[in-house]
Amino acid sequence: RAYNFNAGPAAIPLEVLERAQKELVNFNNTGMSVMELSHRSKDYEEVHNRANALLRELLGIPDTYEVLFLQGGASLQFSMIPMNFLQENKTAHYILSGSWSEKALKEAKAFGETRILASSKEENYSRIPTDYSLEDIKDGAYLHITSNNTIFGTQWNEYPTSPIPLIADMSSDILCKEIDVEKFSLIYAGAQKNLGPSGVTVVIVKKDFLETARPNVPTILKYSTHADNNSLYNTPPTFAIYMLSLVLEWVKEQGGVKAIQKVNEEKAGYIYSAIDESEGFYKAHATEDSRSLMNITFTLPNEELTKKFLQEAKERQFIGLAGHRSVGGCRASAYNAVPKESCLALANFMTEFKNKNS
Ligand code: PLP
Repeated sequence: RAYNFNAGPAAIPLEVLERAQKELVNFNNTGMSVMELSHRSKDYEEVHNRANALLRELLGIPDTYEVLFLQGGASLQFSMIPMNFLQENKTAHYILSGSWSEKALKEAKAFGETRILASSKEENYSRIPTDYSLEDIKDGAYLHITSNNTIFGTQWNEYPTSPIPLIADMSSDILCKEIDVEKFSLIYAGAQKNLGPSGVTVVIVKKDFLETARPNVPTILKYSTHADNNSLYNTPPTFAIYMLSLVLEWVKEQGGVKAIQKVNEEKAGYIYSAIDESEGFYKAHATEDSRSLMNITFTLPNEELTKKFLQEAKERQFIGLAGHRSVGGCRASAYNAVPKESCLALANFMTEFKNKNS
């Protein structure tokens, strides 16, 4: 298998793919594939409820929260959140830490008053903003943050203790480390990085926050519609939810989120060490206090060396290392399913390349 460092859709654990392969044609002795089952059948409902229960167990989600499986990607959440929760005469506050937060803000503007509470755009989003005060947002509708910035390679270490409902886009770091769910009123994540294949979006929302939603929202775009129907209001993405359940089982088998976090710290540690010990050959885009465990962004001394690095990396089966055009250079995405061995192999390759070319 290739060393898959794609930013998304991203690696799926090999054991999960093999199990899905084994069960593909005849799921649970039904004589059918899981994707052929009725979403109202008992066999499918077990899969659906197991995914929900496992996520609750792994993240320690209390009963005061709903766990929803939606469609439309994290991008639809950019609109659904203000559509449901940006009340008239209130302001939605956004902390901008990268392009995905900008996109979330853009959608909110269509529904009401917004304010940029803080932004690190001027520094090309190389750090999580820290220069803001939570004192003057007391009457706001909510505060929105992006917990991990996939493109720029920065991640929140400590979340703000917000006086108003805190909403986080955790698309690229959910389940990568332990979190206190109760700091948030709503968490959302497209599945295709740490949770499974694309097609399902996970939403974790506090029940009493749900009750504050605006009534004049189309049925399918109301969170309450999905909460009231156990995410079975219409046909859910059954196969993606089945894959999600297998990935969650895998996380549990690894020892849960705490164990995954430890491995992620080691994995990112290998690559950051290769950067830090390169005597300036590689430069991390993110400032040290904002470095992401998931997306490691770095540049080389010039364009020519970057091209050569990417070419040689490709020949060695390292996939997906080209950086996003807004940062340049390289990006290694080391999501949960990327094995430790892949990160160690990349770190060794980086050091070898630096020794040959500096
Ligand atoms: N938010 C973050 C942090 C992302 O990384 C991405 C995609 O990479 C998105 C949102 C958009 O997700 P989707 O493609 O599921 O709409």
